Amino acid sequence: MAKLAVDGGSPVRKTLLPYGRQSIDDDDIRAVVDVLRSDWITTGPKVAEFERALADYTGARFGVAYSSGTAALHGATFAAGLGPGDEVITSPLTFVASANCALYVGATPVFADVRDDTLTIDAARVAERITTRTRAIIPVDFAGQPADLDEITALAARHGAVVIEDAAHSLGATYRSRRVGTLASMTVFSTHPVKHITTGEGGVVTTDDERLAERLRRFRNHGITSDARARQEAGSWFYEMVDLGYNYRLSDMQCALGISQLRKLDGWLARRREIASRYTDALSTLAGIVTPVVRNDRTSAWHLYVVRVRREVNGISRDEVFRALRAENIGVNVHYIPVTWHPYYRARGHHPGECAVADAAYSELISLPIFPAMTDGDVEDVLTAVRKVVDRYVRA
Ligand SMILES: *Cc1c(COP(=O)(O)O)cnc(C)c1O
Repeated sequence: MAKLAVDGGSPVRKTLLPYGRQSIDDDDIRAVVDVLRSDWITTGPKVAEFERALADYTGARFGVAYSSGTAALHGATFAAGLGPGDEVITSPLTFVASANCALYVGATPVFADVRDDTLTIDAARVAERITTRTRAIIPVDFAGQPADLDEITALAARHGAVVIEDAAHSLGATYRSRRVGTLASMTVFSTHPVKHITTGEGGVVTTDDERLAERLRRFRNHGITSDARARQEAGSWFYEMVDLGYNYRLSDMQCALGISQLRKLDGWLARRREIASRYTDALSTLAGIVTPVVRNDRTSAWHLYVVRVRREVNGISRDEVFRALRAENIGVNVHYIPVTWHPYYRARGHHPGECAVADAAYSELISLPIFPAMTDGDVEDVLTAVRKVVDRYVRA
């Protein structure tokens, strides 16, 4: 049996394969350079063009671009009118921004545990956490699979709450034959380089509600009613600040990149699906490894490929598998440390044990590399390394 790199053997790969990375081609570079040579490098024609293209892709009426997915989440909690005294229910198994966006507007995040199979928020647990103060629910489409949106939107409607879908993982995913972007009152995407398309940093909120779209646009521009280009075109200097907004604008340089990237999204999604099904075919029979569950009424956009390492089967912990795979130069990662475990949240009264299903999952999760530019050889390297590490430990 091959000696593990962690024990001094030679690694499966010579250099580290990252868990995710962007794909940038000559068309992308040309699109950005064209903007650099033009009159507007920020808040020019490319912003509206990118917003239109992304909204059209999802089927939503409006898209509003932000400087990051996190800023876009902040915009969404602001546009929803959330504030002090309001409670916002979200998932504990997510990136901290999903909950921080409630704190930014003075609202209180409340965590409802996840389902054990899909690791998306459990609608039954959400129902238990609803109070008279609940004003919003923020489901997270974990790893790319849409959450139980029909159940969640029905619950929200019954209690007068708004649904803000954190779709940072799920651009291009579908739920009961509908595209993500049209399923919630507001849907938030991220265009960080590890996500499906990139603008360097960036985010977009989609909505069908014109009033929300207007509030979202103002909030990213200091709460001011018009932008500089609109004033220039109208030959006017007058503007008014009506909300306390921020400078959360996405530049034309970035939007040009986004427009160019979006043209390639369908091909990239297909490649992600291909990699995921190769992993599932190869790993679902491996003792001690549990492959991801996708329910048959939805499709995943496969932002992440997350497996669970069952200690009771192979006797090794996730941490050992993680270290051994990293030593083989496979850039595995862990998504996520539950939000309730972070010191900032503990200081607010949250704690491990608060969401038992998420906590148990966290101790077993490993994200394998998945991104469109991975070659078949890269995929096989990951599988070789996983088999090597698991075989070394399993005493079947
Ligand atoms: C990436 C991500 C965000 C934040 O997006 P940024 O563009 O990095 O600010 C929010 N929520 C989830 C679940 C994410 O994965």
